[in-house]
Amino acid sequence: MSDAVTRLGEVRALIARAAGDAGRKPAEVTLVAVSKTFGIEEIAPVIAAGQSVFGENRVQEAKAKWPELRARAAAQGRTVELHLIGPLQSNKAREAVELFDWIETVDRPKIAAALAAEMKATGRRPRLLVQINTGAEPQKAGVLPADADAFLAECRDVHGLTIEGLMCIPPADELASPHFALMAKIAARHGLKTLSMGMSADYPLAIQLGATHVRVGSAIFGAR
Ligand SMILES: *Cc1c(COP(=O)(O)O)cnc(C)c1O
Repeated sequence: MSDAVTRLGEVRALIARAAGDAGRKPAEVTLVAVSKTFGIEEIAPVIAAGQSVFGENRVQEAKAKWPELRARAAAQGRTVELHLIGPLQSNKAREAVELFDWIETVDRPKIAAALAAEMKATGRRPRLLVQINTGAEPQKAGVLPADADAFLAECRDVHGLTIEGLMCIPPADELASPHFALMAKIAARHGLKTLSMGMSADYPLAIQLGATHVRVGSAIFGAR
């Protein structure tokens, strides 16, 4: 068994425990295995071990790896679901819509417009989340919490997009819990059901605070 497969089992056990502790069912939490920077031969055993949901943060890197990985998965009778978790440029919107099943990083009107146009052109309907910059960090992508209500309304009313929930990456040097709590609050007032939050360092905490998707990379694949 590869180290990644062993660690995958450990992460799954911890997710089940955290969900149980929070009075939730393990099935309410989806593990998005973040495979960025890792190669096809490192990812394939994790798919063979039954993991079906993966996250990548760059369109070009995903394009280089996932057609082959999907073909191999299909040969084993498996399907994979791919999430874009990194910033999207509007000139990559077409490729993103063609490749990804979820785009978690909708964060500005230009991207919303580009995605709406490409979804219409291709007939593909990736599921969409809005990224919130909960720490208002200047270098980080995402909508400021104060602008979230207006942006969600614009996605719906101007661009005709169905936004299913929110995604965030809290500041690395702060306690994550206030950021996760803020996410739950914004989602609740919009009736949004999906919360993508929590990474290797803090996914049990995120589950306690309502995460429906945790994005775990290094705890499965090892250090990057
Ligand atoms: C890399 C990355 C992750 C996974 O981070 P780990 O600390 O390795 O678990 C999660 N979310 C996003 C947006 C990332 O870019």
